[in-house]
Amino acid sequence: MNFIESRGNDGKKAKSVTFSEAIKSPSASFGGLYVPEFLPQIDDDFINQSKELNYKEFSKKVIELFDIDIEEEVLDKALSLYDKWDDKNDVVPIKKVEDILFVSELYHGPTRAFKDMALQPFGYILSQIAKKEDKEYLILAATSGDTGPATLNSFANKDNIKVVCIYPEGGTSDVQKLQMVTQKGDNLKVIGIEGNFDDAQSALKSLLASKSFKTKLDSKGISLSAANSVNFGRIIFQIIYHLYAYIKLLRDGDITASNEIYIAVPSGNFGDALGAYYAKKMGAKIRKILIASNDNNVLSHLINRGYYDIRDRKLIKTISPAMDILISSNVERLLFDKFGAVRCKELMDSLQKDGFYQLTKEEHQSLKDDFRGYYTSDMETKHYISEYASVKNYLMDPHTATCIRAYDDIKCSRRKTVICSTAEWTKFAPAVMNAISCDWKTKFTDIEALEGVSKIMKTEVPESISKLFKAKILHKTVIQKEQLENEIEKFLEG
Ligand SMILES: *Cc1c(COP(=O)(O)O)cnc(C)c1O
Repeated sequence: MNFIESRGNDGKKAKSVTFSEAIKSPSASFGGLYVPEFLPQIDDDFINQSKELNYKEFSKKVIELFDIDIEEEVLDKALSLYDKWDDKNDVVPIKKVEDILFVSELYHGPTRAFKDMALQPFGYILSQIAKKEDKEYLILAATSGDTGPATLNSFANKDNIKVVCIYPEGGTSDVQKLQMVTQKGDNLKVIGIEGNFDDAQSALKSLLASKSFKTKLDSKGISLSAANSVNFGRIIFQIIYHLYAYIKLLRDGDITASNEIYIAVPSGNFGDALGAYYAKKMGAKIRKILIASNDNNVLSHLINRGYYDIRDRKLIKTISPAMDILISSNVERLLFDKFGAVRCKELMDSLQKDGFYQLTKEEHQSLKDDFRGYYTSDMETKHYISEYASVKNYLMDPHTATCIRAYDDIKCSRRKTVICSTAEWTKFAPAVMNAISCDWKTKFTDIEALEGVSKIMKTEVPESISKLFKAKILHKTVIQKEQLENEIEKFLEG
């Protein structure tokens, strides 16, 4: 199938593009995004044939439905990266925590966050496309913590791709920073920026707007691409695990074909949630998708109140930093799917110009048919972590724990609920240590917290995390944001 544009066509770009084109240059007309022409459907036969498949085989079956222009051999190799997960026969464990509560653990890959689920296969596919064309691509990523490590790990030593990853010095956890600055790979450059995440992001934005930078890339024959979830190459892999969870519950007899389930998702850029929405539209029986946020609750307001409003908003720093986001990029794909390109463009233009848009009553109702929105404060989130650790012996990271608020609200329906667990606790150990030790004041270091939590919960820290503290620091560059262009040039010449 081909991919079309969420804000319509400007007459300059192609009206529809192949999958490989959409992932190479993910920016569509009028600053829009690429979306699938239609969503393929799963039927009873598909479900029956899928019941015996492992995660890798199932992924291939789903991707085949989309009929994309990726050679089978490349796809197979991309999906075989799931063999690196903790247990290649159980890539996404679905843990039963209560009678009706299941947790889909999406974090058993190399960097211990769910970003690996999509970024690992995506990185391989993009590099193969670039190699076949004999072109060089540069990927620029600004990260507040999880995207950076997952992107670097995915593209390390991959042909025809260079990655520059910018992080706010002092603005990430120790584990996240170490994952980046110890990552091996000659094609990678990691740069700390003096300032916060906004500074890192704005440094990247002004670089992308810089004419001199563009001229230099052109003269070297380097094209820019993106690895964030505006790239549909990531979204396709984020549909799969929702379908997988639904079919797993069917297979295990936890639900029957007439039952609907809830899926709860900790949401930031809305990629994971959009994957669940697409899975629902493809035929998984999902009653509603429960959107969990922290105090940066723009998404829950959109769903519950029918408007998107960032006019007087300042970003609040929370213990679930991957959800500290005000402009949530993938909502656009939902708006397109629900209301079409003309209306989608109107709403997105309004958000860009005024920091605000208002849905009509009918449009708002249409969102409420598929979603419910929730949010929790850091205090509540710690309570949930502590409660589930002590009563259920189940350890959650702060992002995952925000979903418990949603679950508490709907559990009286007795409907089976799947929570997407987006990170292992080890990535956010200090907050988890505060929660489970009932010592909410001490500022633990990552090392203290990793040791403390594993002792209290009698659980192990995976080797991929513990080895970070002994690994050699390979990237030491920390600069002012004004020096960024210069620094990247040096790297490209390198
Ligand atoms: C990225 C991330 C999220 C948010 O996912 P989106 O797809 O951007 O909504 C949630 N939790 C963790 C741990 C993450 O790394």
